[in-house]
Amino acid sequence: MSSAETQVDVMLGLKNVLTKIEAAVSRRSKDLPQIAPRLVAVSKIKPAALIAEAYEAGQRHFGENYVNELAEKAVDPLILEKCKDIKWHFIGHLQTNKINKLLGSPNLFMVETVHSEKLATNLNKQWPKYRKNEEKLPVMVQINTSAEEAKSGIEPSETTKVVGHVLENCPNLEFKGLMTIGQYDYDTTKGPNPDFLTLVKCRQEVCENLKLDINEVELSMGMSTDFEHAIELGATTVRVGSTIFGARPANYKHVA
Ligand SMILES: *Cc1c(COP(=O)(O)O)cnc(C)c1O
Repeated sequence: MSSAETQVDVMLGLKNVLTKIEAAVSRRSKDLPQIAPRLVAVSKIKPAALIAEAYEAGQRHFGENYVNELAEKAVDPLILEKCKDIKWHFIGHLQTNKINKLLGSPNLFMVETVHSEKLATNLNKQWPKYRKNEEKLPVMVQINTSAEEAKSGIEPSETTKVVGHVLENCPNLEFKGLMTIGQYDYDTTKGPNPDFLTLVKCRQEVCENLKLDINEVELSMGMSTDFEHAIELGATTVRVGSTIFGARPANYKHVA
């Protein structure tokens, strides 16, 4: 298909990542919940043809960080025809004025980036207009573990409050876990990535405070450069883009 034209072997990239994920799972501490990690293939700025190629190779979960892009790809004729069981994850910054566009996208599977109580409230309010069969919308709460201004997400200390809000006041949402982006290019020779450790600690605390089963609270952390490390520390969802689909242009604006 389009791999010749784009010079990326998506199938091979996918296979390599899955092999590395499996190896990382075997190194994971046995004290951690043994949840099989889910690979979210991050397809931002990549064409529908490459997504269809990955789908054909067996991949089902895909992530996008811009609402417009997810909404367009979700209704792309190729995707609708060839990828009927695709599961879209929204992993970017969600603005209130884009909520309806996002929720109206076919095969939206999860919003990983709930970054405030207000956003949770709004998603909860709008979702009944779009859902099928009374299903709840799966969500994760995004934590800004690196305290960087440019990144969205709540402070680690607010985790219990925001998750509690989702559980108590948002009956149309299903709380699935915690997500972080963290610092880029952290040097792991210095030890475990502190962002990942913080997310693990947030889960521990929120489970204790709200009496949640830790085996049912997921952690979304880890990207191309550090997904194996993230799995070793307990990631249950890794979001991998460039290793599968090829590098993005150096000037690609990466905000979330
Ligand atoms: C782009 C992106 C990724 C994937 O990044 P790669 O380095 O290409 O693997 C993961 N998570 C988020 C939130 C992203 O925006």
